[in-house]
Amino acid sequence: MEDYPRSIVELERRFSTEEACRDYLFALRWPEGFVCPRCGTADVWRTTRGRLVCRGCRHQASVTAGTIFQDTHKPLVLWFRAVWHVVGQKNGASAVSVQDILGLGSYSTAWTWLHKLRRAMVRPGRDRLRGRVEMDETFVGGPEGDVGRRTEHKSIVLVAAEEAGQAIGRIRLARIPDARKKTLHRFIQNMVETGSNIHTDGFSGYGGLDALGYTHKATPLLREKDEAAAARLLPRVHRVASLVKRWLLGTHQGAVRPEHLDYYLDEFTFRFNRRTSRSRGKLFYRLLQQAVQIEPVPYNWLVGGSHNTNHNLLGVVESTG
Ligand SMILES: [Zn+2]
Repeated sequence: MEDYPRSIVELERRFSTEEACRDYLFALRWPEGFVCPRCGTADVWRTTRGRLVCRGCRHQASVTAGTIFQDTHKPLVLWFRAVWHVVGQKNGASAVSVQDILGLGSYSTAWTWLHKLRRAMVRPGRDRLRGRVEMDETFVGGPEGDVGRRTEHKSIVLVAAEEAGQAIGRIRLARIPDARKKTLHRFIQNMVETGSNIHTDGFSGYGGLDALGYTHKATPLLREKDEAAAARLLPRVHRVASLVKRWLLGTHQGAVRPEHLDYYLDEFTFRFNRRTSRSRGKLFYRLLQQAVQIEPVPYNWLVGGSHNTNHNLLGVVESTG
């Protein structure tokens, strides 16, 4: 049974203490109840400061350890409000708005929070697409009016969309440093499960996917730069790419700096993949649920030993700019 607040009044009333927030996270993280990871005892004792102590072996745990809330110096009450704010912003939350709403002293704290939340929005390695998947890359951001010409202010975004009959299933988006084969392969492995069918245009960077365990169908365009033909060839990724661009232009006048783009792409993805749940409370529930289910993921496992990734797996927060 999904249990979430229906309104801001309900949120404020229900989550007014740290204890209430911790209880909620506890239920999301251990829906079947807590079992000691060391000795398997289900009998725990909870301290007033939110620690769990196993009655069998005295092992200690906490509901926030290993999640995005680990080591936070701010109250969970504030975090809950941040999450409520973020999921309520149809066009994406900005660090300024988070700072404003919560009365945070510093912009960089707000920015850090958004970055932590994005780790819960799209969970690297956990939410990989499968089945039949369209892929293409597109340019976004940078000043308006130089589309397709000056690309140094633009970012390359890799777009993946599941085919769900004629419709779009789930999507994944990633800012990529370049469109070389090696880079594309690495990101595709992070976005799509092996065994899936990947459909692309004839770009050589997508070559070699069969060797990675995918079934790859490449359909070359007869004429290069034929946008209409490209859109017919891969209609889902083109639709998603245009929605992302329109969203970025509308909300941020296109002025999203490349290092900020990752957050917005993940937020767009989170929202898009849950576009059928219209309720704010439900998104709140889902985001907190994913926030406490996160486990630290070995860096090399995901990025194949490379230092460059769009996901900040180590939890290191980027420069606040
Ligand atoms: Zn134990």
